[in-house]
Amino acid sequence: MTAQLIDGKALAAKVRGELKDQAAELVKRFGRPPGIAVVRVGEDPASKTYVTSKKKTAEELGFGSWEHHLDAGTTQQDLLALVAKLNADPAVDGILVQLPLPKHLDATQVLEAIDPAKDVDGFHAVNAGHLFQGRPTLVACTPFGVMRMFEEIKYDLSGKNCVVVGRSNIVGRPMAMLLLNASATVTICHSKSDVAAEVRRADVVVAAVGVAKLVRGEWIKPGAVVIDVGMNRNAEGKLCGDVDFETAKERAAWITPVPGGVGPMTIAMLMSNTVKAARARLGK
Ligand code: NAP
Repeated sequence: MTAQLIDGKALAAKVRGELKDQAAELVKRFGRPPGIAVVRVGEDPASKTYVTSKKKTAEELGFGSWEHHLDAGTTQQDLLALVAKLNADPAVDGILVQLPLPKHLDATQVLEAIDPAKDVDGFHAVNAGHLFQGRPTLVACTPFGVMRMFEEIKYDLSGKNCVVVGRSNIVGRPMAMLLLNASATVTICHSKSDVAAEVRRADVVVAAVGVAKLVRGEWIKPGAVVIDVGMNRNAEGKLCGDVDFETAKERAAWITPVPGGVGPMTIAMLMSNTVKAARARLGK
């Protein structure tokens, strides 16, 4: 078997097209577009790339978009003051503080200071709690994008054995909750798990680990759906996932590539959350 590719790049473009229309509709009805403010602290090069890309996408969709770049020595107090200002700004529907923050800053306190109604990353405990209770509000963008992929391939998750490898707050845990909410039977693996044994019986594997080729092709149950969230650099500096793509694609029915899979969906879903937050704030 050679798996069908789930083309995240194409799907993200489709989602962005829908969002552009929705933004224009909001302008027509309420006189202003959805607005997103992105906060970056220090000079982390990857953060700079991510923030530039988020701002560019927001502008392409016709959103209001603001970047706040604070220097590496910014204090916790200054950062919290900026978050408070953005919380109070009526033109700002979504606030994103790009992680990682410099070591002297307390990221948890900063994320918890964001108004949950503007928490378009979906990391605030209130939004994570709503998801946990099965009544999702603003959902973490990467797992949200993965769910959009299942919708696109018309895959019914109900009763399926889904194995999520990784238990981070930004990917693994919210992913598991979304799958559970879709009535899948969910197993969460981590560094103490027998990952091979769990993956072998999975109808769906979502790998979010950060270890190149951790999930081997021979572990994949024939006909499974394989979603690779991982973004790693191999010895040659080439981007690769957590799944050994070449061998896994010979057994899976569906598989996401890296790059061009989950990655492009994350920013698209950030924009989707921004539209959702704007609609809620504008009363529709
Ligand atoms: P993270 O916070 O470092 O979490 C990694 C998880 O993997 C942890 O739960 C860890 O277990 C588990 N793990 C580590 N080694 C393992 C092993 N050998 N066997 C089984 N589990 C193992 O990472 P993250 O933020 O969730 O990101 C995961 C990957 O996704 C990274 O490659 C990241 O770059 C990528 N990512 C991609 C996107 C995207 O848009 N495509 C977005 C976010 C993240 P313990 O909890 O036991 O330590």
